[in-house]
Amino acid sequence: MAIVHNLGFPRIGAQREMKEAVEAYWKGKIDQAQLQETGRDIRKNSWKMQAALNMVPVNDFSWYDHVLDMSALLGVIPPRFEAGQKQVDLDTYFHMARGRAPGKEDEHACAMKKWFDTNYHYIVPEFHQEQSFKISCNKLFDETAEAKSQGYQVKPVLLGPLSYLWLGKIKDSDFNKLDLLKKLIPVYREILMRLASSGVEWIQIDEPILVLDLPKPWQQAFLNTYEQLQIKNLKILLATYFGSLQENTAIACQLPVAGLHIDAVRAPEQIPHVLKQLRQDAILSVGIIDGRNIWRTDLKKALEVLKPLQKQLGDRLWVSASSSLLHSPVDLAYETALDPELKNWLAFAKQKVDELTLVAKALKTGEGSIQKELKECEEAMKSRRNSKRIHNPKVKQRVQSITQEMIKRSAPHAKRSELQRNILNLPTFPTTTVGSFPQTQEIRAARRDFKLNKIQEQQYNEKVRAEIKKVVQKQEELGLDVLVHGEAERNDMVEYFGELLEGYAFTQNGWVQSYGSRCVKPPIIYGDVQRPKQMTIDWICYAQSLTKRPVKGMLTGPITMLCWSFVRDDQPHFDTAKQISCALRDEVIDLERAGVKVIQIDEPAFREGLPLRHKAWQDYLQQAVECFKIASCGVKNETQIHTHMCYAEFNDIIDSIAALDADVITIETSRSDMELLRAFEKFRYPNEIGPGVYDIHSPRVPSVDEMVDLIEKAVAYIPIHQLWINPDCGLKTRGWPETEASLQNMVKAAKQLRNKYSERAIVS
Ligand code: GLN
Ligand code: ZN
Repeated sequence: MAIVHNLGFPRIGAQREMKEAVEAYWKGKIDQAQLQETGRDIRKNSWKMQAALNMVPVNDFSWYDHVLDMSALLGVIPPRFEAGQKQVDLDTYFHMARGRAPGKEDEHACAMKKWFDTNYHYIVPEFHQEQSFKISCNKLFDETAEAKSQGYQVKPVLLGPLSYLWLGKIKDSDFNKLDLLKKLIPVYREILMRLASSGVEWIQIDEPILVLDLPKPWQQAFLNTYEQLQIKNLKILLATYFGSLQENTAIACQLPVAGLHIDAVRAPEQIPHVLKQLRQDAILSVGIIDGRNIWRTDLKKALEVLKPLQKQLGDRLWVSASSSLLHSPVDLAYETALDPELKNWLAFAKQKVDELTLVAKALKTGEGSIQKELKECEEAMKSRRNSKRIHNPKVKQRVQSITQEMIKRSAPHAKRSELQRNILNLPTFPTTTVGSFPQTQEIRAARRDFKLNKIQEQQYNEKVRAEIKKVVQKQEELGLDVLVHGEAERNDMVEYFGELLEGYAFTQNGWVQSYGSRCVKPPIIYGDVQRPKQMTIDWICYAQSLTKRPVKGMLTGPITMLCWSFVRDDQPHFDTAKQISCALRDEVIDLERAGVKVIQIDEPAFREGLPLRHKAWQDYLQQAVECFKIASCGVKNETQIHTHMCYAEFNDIIDSIAALDADVITIETSRSDMELLRAFEKFRYPNEIGPGVYDIHSPRVPSVDEMVDLIEKAVAYIPIHQLWINPDCGLKTRGWPETEASLQNMVKAAKQLRNKYSERAIVS
């Protein structure tokens, strides 16, 4: 009979208990024993919620990150974190993750990177040439024993050796990471043998890199690796997710493992190919329930996919979620404020496990055995398909009627720039900031009190206005050229707009882990999106009324609105993105009408949405650019459009960034020491650009010389009349003192550069 299992469960606890405990531990408020007790409770509850499955995942729990857990298990500890010790204790573990830990000196933390195309960040392993590996942490074995002692059939989860190496980076020398494999495999073998000897029958080894474009040597390494990982009495389920195996199908299907898991939500088209090539004795685990989104599964549709598979595979068919449930919130039951109709369309991790058990039951004992549930599900599906709250013909019609004319500015940038310069009267090297200013306790309290109805709207508006006034005055004193209103009214750049748009819903407790103890609560885009009323005009106009200098309108772009939300799955993502783009277009036009001359549309997530496979990039980029242009191209040539990007490497998509045709882009560069500029060796960036001159993630105040140096580097590649001077990103996480000091230096740096280059102009 079909085995039903799960690749992984959220580890933050139903009420974010992990966050609370870990942060209390870091602050010294609880000791390690208390912390461990919370961990045991979370695991116990998670397993309990999965008790109806044939086996539960183990070692999917983590105190920070599962890739860091692998580094601890394998003893991959960078020398600056007390290498050489036998066991990686919890404080060393936190030290690596955060650069600080109880009783330890601050160190440079390990780097963090996005886990494939999710919003989860992992801690990047660091390898050096002489890297050795040895079992250095007992967590995996302890948790396995713990689950067994509670009576569960266990399936420990490990990140596979090839994915682990792929995700790491080499430090201080130049060598091929793959060369480490021969040292790594024996340690994996040892781990597997230990698990086998403790009576474990199945182990799940995740190799998600099998859905990426892999270089030949990496593809070739798989067979040999898994041949060596064959251990008597231990069966390996090799798990792939987030996409299709494509050209790696043959490799995955031929490996000497007992079973293969594939993602049939993201890539159902791979099923027939896998069936054709899978070894006759291998299990196929089909991930049929979406591990990454919050929508209820259409059980009937799922069964339609699974039934023929069962016919063909019999007991060799297993059923699971597409990926680990790490990326979905824990339990819908905590959502007491959600509209009941909408709530009925959703499933969080616990509900997804229930769906899995239902599907398995239907496969085992026929659909008749889940008649009631099928009917209920069908009704929910029907209500979602037909609900007026989802479908707004006007919105759909509007997206249909976008013309090429509408997504083009009427003059090229060179011409626009001339007009804008005349109106805005800006010096060379104009200075600006990216949007937000420090968020003080008072302003946070005001937002909270307003939300809780503790203060009236008028009182709230006064408080925000007072903050805007302060921020505008400060910027005038500092001598910045293009000002911002400071974003005091925004808790979060996506949430703020989501709350004002139709088609968005918000949960009370729909947290998912972003990194370590940090969780985010992505809004849910459930229906056609439209803008019932203006969203930012009043605040911006108030700010503009206080100064003669231009104030930027400040909006969040369509791709970022999409990437940082749970998106509806009943239409292509770009249909949704285009609806958001239309709503933003109206706001942009209203800002212009209200007299705002500079409008910024932030797209920090622009690169994040890139597909995992290169061949899908072009299509994504073309549509993403189109969305930005829908939002931005409704204005006159005189209106200056800015955009902002950060947190990513932009060199490989620089031509698409140029294709946005924003008049100005402010972009993160300082942390990579202007690495971005290398892209301009080959590519002449046509419009204006402000490469961030200092890192806002650190409280350090950069010196004038440092910033001048960075801009001098840029001058080598970009004509001076195209350059702007600004920080890397918004300042909302900073305090006022360092913000003022840094901006003071930044303005000085701009002045120095102006002097230098205007003298030069006179001399020549
Ligand atoms: N305008 C936003 C801010 O300054 C941009 C934030 C971001 O890029 N993540 O806060
Ligand atoms: Zn940013």
